[in-house]
Amino acid sequence: MNAQHAWAPVTTPPQHFIDNRWVPAVTGATLPMIDPSDGRPFAAIAFGTAEDVDGAVAAARRAFEGPWGRLAPAEKGRLLGRLARAVGDHAEELALLEARDCGKPLKQARADAAACARYFEFYGGASDKFHGETIPYPAGYTVLTWREPHGVTGHIIPWNYPLQIFGRSVGGALATGNACVVKPAEDACLSLLRLAELAAGVGFPDGALNIVTGLGREAGAALAAHRGIDHISFTGSPPTGAAVAGEAARRHCPVTLELGGKGPQLVFADADLDAALPVLVNAIVQNAGQTCSAGSRLLVEASRYDEVLERLGRRFAALKVGPAWADLDCGPLIRASQLERVLGFLADAERDGIAVVGRGTVAADAPAGGYYVEPHLLRDVPVHCRLGCEEVFGPVLAAMPFVDEADAVRIANATEFGLVAGVWTRDGGRQLRLARAIRSGQVFVNNYGAGGGVELPFGGVKSSGHGREKGLEALYGFSVLKTVVLQHG
Ligand code: NAD
Repeated sequence: MNAQHAWAPVTTPPQHFIDNRWVPAVTGATLPMIDPSDGRPFAAIAFGTAEDVDGAVAAARRAFEGPWGRLAPAEKGRLLGRLARAVGDHAEELALLEARDCGKPLKQARADAAACARYFEFYGGASDKFHGETIPYPAGYTVLTWREPHGVTGHIIPWNYPLQIFGRSVGGALATGNACVVKPAEDACLSLLRLAELAAGVGFPDGALNIVTGLGREAGAALAAHRGIDHISFTGSPPTGAAVAGEAARRHCPVTLELGGKGPQLVFADADLDAALPVLVNAIVQNAGQTCSAGSRLLVEASRYDEVLERLGRRFAALKVGPAWADLDCGPLIRASQLERVLGFLADAERDGIAVVGRGTVAADAPAGGYYVEPHLLRDVPVHCRLGCEEVFGPVLAAMPFVDEADAVRIANATEFGLVAGVWTRDGGRQLRLARAIRSGQVFVNNYGAGGGVELPFGGVKSSGHGREKGLEALYGFSVLKTVVLQHG
């Protein structure tokens, strides 16, 4: 493996994409993009401020009140379908950008590009099939409900899955007729700028889809506070989500919050371990554990706890970490501060005497400046300690035993989060009891995240957020219901 890799040159200029054109920041300032695989700058983006956000929101408003707003739903769907095909045709280019920008192994970036195309395909098909109802009412009246777009929607996207989260959020918003302003994360946004260029190329009218780059506390905060934004979709950390929702609440702007998780995987003694073990590993190693829906807590019935840990420990020891281009099990973390955070959790675990059962290795020739950490499987993690409750956002799996079903449910529900849970058991009654008892937006039984989930409503309870994206359910959040009552005698 080389310390350098011959990536294709980045072709997106350090500018916003507004009104189907590249537009420099009003101040002319730019921000460097750092490659997490080697810690070196490799591109730049525009340093957006409130004035840039103003420009993007005005462009979106013109589109909403003009050509985009007037387009028939079937035409909107056709454009989304064309965008899906364009993403498919440029999947390798987008995946390479995403891999370099996020530090993810190429196979993961390729899967993300494919999922992004699938979101546009799914929502393109839904655009002209989402409608209101009539409501029975006394004679002489007709009551109708209409599903209307909010208007201009704001989308604040994190760095861990830019292509996928853009696809699910912007796909649903465009399908319901909104015009969008997107603020990607400052750590990773190149694939999204290229995607907006592709959208212009397939015929989206000017202003239907705009991207403003920059820091969260500047451009992101300006978007959250903007009076021209009619709905905000935020995906990111719980504290930032609270700040965004607080700004939105000042002007009663509806918000969807997709926040963090501490996904419990409950393994009962009757589980099919051969099927479960590879899925349990992947659920924490994928994207180096920087996944809101990561299965980061492993709860195992006491009678098979040692056996499960012994078998999983061997799998962890075989995991390899390296730069995105090497396409190993894990890439680097996104940035130095994220590496520090994960190492801090591991140092606390060591101080508290928590045993490491299995630990992967960083490739010897991985570039020295990259943000690498080995996947760790830790045993007997106390339920209520920081490692047991807080989101690490790294490849660290915290194992703990449980004695029976009630104990398993108690531990599963013992964090502030409730996003995704996994249950591994052959007992049908138990499968359903647990699916009901676990407080979580999604529960997977004998699988975890299978199929990618474009069709499956996704979102949290408790500090994992509120509102749903993905699936047809997302269309309700991206639209508003109007009730029309006609008295006609
Ligand atoms: P973050 O909250 O720091 O950043 C997310 C986005 O918010 C970025 O675009 C950032 O620029 C922007 N932002 C930052 N400060 C802002 C502010 N004051 N006002 C407006 N926008 C601001 O989160 P992160 O560290 O980039 O992402 C990791 C977190 O995201 C984790 O907690 C993870 O669980 C969560 N996440 C959740 C989901 C989900 O679907 N539930 C998906 C991915 C990530």
